[in-house]
Amino acid sequence: MSTRPGKPTWAGLSDVGRVRAHNEDTVLVDPPLFAVADGLGGHEAGEVASGIAIDTLASAAPATADAKGLGRAVRAANRAVIRAAREGLGRAGMGTTMTAAVVEGTRIAVAHVGDSRAYLLHTGGLERITGDHSMVADMIRQGTLTEEQSRSHPNRSVITRALGTDPNMVADTFEVDAEPGDRLLLCSDGLTAMLTDDRIAEVLHSYGDPEMAVRILVDEANAAGGHDNISVVVVDITGERRGGAGAGRLARSRAWLAVLVWAFALVAVVTLAGWGTYRYASERAFLIAENDVVVLYRGLPGEFAGVSLRWLEEETTITVGALDPLTASRLTQGVIVEDVAAGRALLRQYRGIAEEREPGEALDPAPAPEAP
Ligand code: MN
Repeated sequence: MSTRPGKPTWAGLSDVGRVRAHNEDTVLVDPPLFAVADGLGGHEAGEVASGIAIDTLASAAPATADAKGLGRAVRAANRAVIRAAREGLGRAGMGTTMTAAVVEGTRIAVAHVGDSRAYLLHTGGLERITGDHSMVADMIRQGTLTEEQSRSHPNRSVITRALGTDPNMVADTFEVDAEPGDRLLLCSDGLTAMLTDDRIAEVLHSYGDPEMAVRILVDEANAAGGHDNISVVVVDITGERRGGAGAGRLARSRAWLAVLVWAFALVAVVTLAGWGTYRYASERAFLIAENDVVVLYRGLPGEFAGVSLRWLEEETTITVGALDPLTASRLTQGVIVEDVAAGRALLRQYRGIAEEREPGEALDPAPAPEAP
């Protein structure tokens, strides 16, 4: 299964799938940098977000397997997506996942946000090396849902961390020591929702040529239904350094992804009930506009089976009118964050925006104009 001389030891492919009309995923194969981004927010938003994120990553990523440096590049990509939305590119609420790797010999640096994944095929076993930032992954960690149940759960596409909303977002970053002969796989959920890890491992075993392996994985995901865009990158770990010499970036493809607009998805979802939801909700937080000021709650916006799961944390003096229109419109629906601490961090950000736009007016009411 070793690679033939002269043949590329990596391959990447992104496919629209069988159901969506557009591909919102973007794939990057630019050795030593590899990445998959799954855009969110619908046509003319998701592919904009994943495209901007990948472009920024490509220009900011380190050339060595430096996980911290790669994490900084992902944070730069996050800021670029937020800025683009403010400047009117794409749409409000657009976002993207990002799973990126720099392969330097046998050392692999990974930075990860969202529910795309990195796997390592190592001495026969396929190991997930990233943890999904998703609602069902949280519930699996809490023991309220099994992996099997999560595959058909109505909220399986709700992700809890993405690029494009929270300016303080932080990526998971780490470095892995692989061995020559190992294989790195990066993929969007369009692959993992359609194929089990066991089947993916079998394909990676059976097809030594990375080009062939990605082709077969995409074909099988399509044969299984192709419900979402499918993006796959396979990198054979040879122990040799690579990159530089004219390794071009793979063409990206993009398309349609979600019926649920991710940032507002939880608001619309009222199908969940029970302890899992309660526990999930009680650890989250959100910001929302009430009586024209920003209020921080622990819990989730909306109602779940008729029950409201929110607990007031802080009422602020930040008026919604003092914020930019994009933020203001998000706040009417509720901006969901990881936890109360993240909510307070976002409030500090909003105070900054409010003061920048209307100095002095965001926190203290402006003096009334004098009568003529
Ligand atoms: Mn997807």
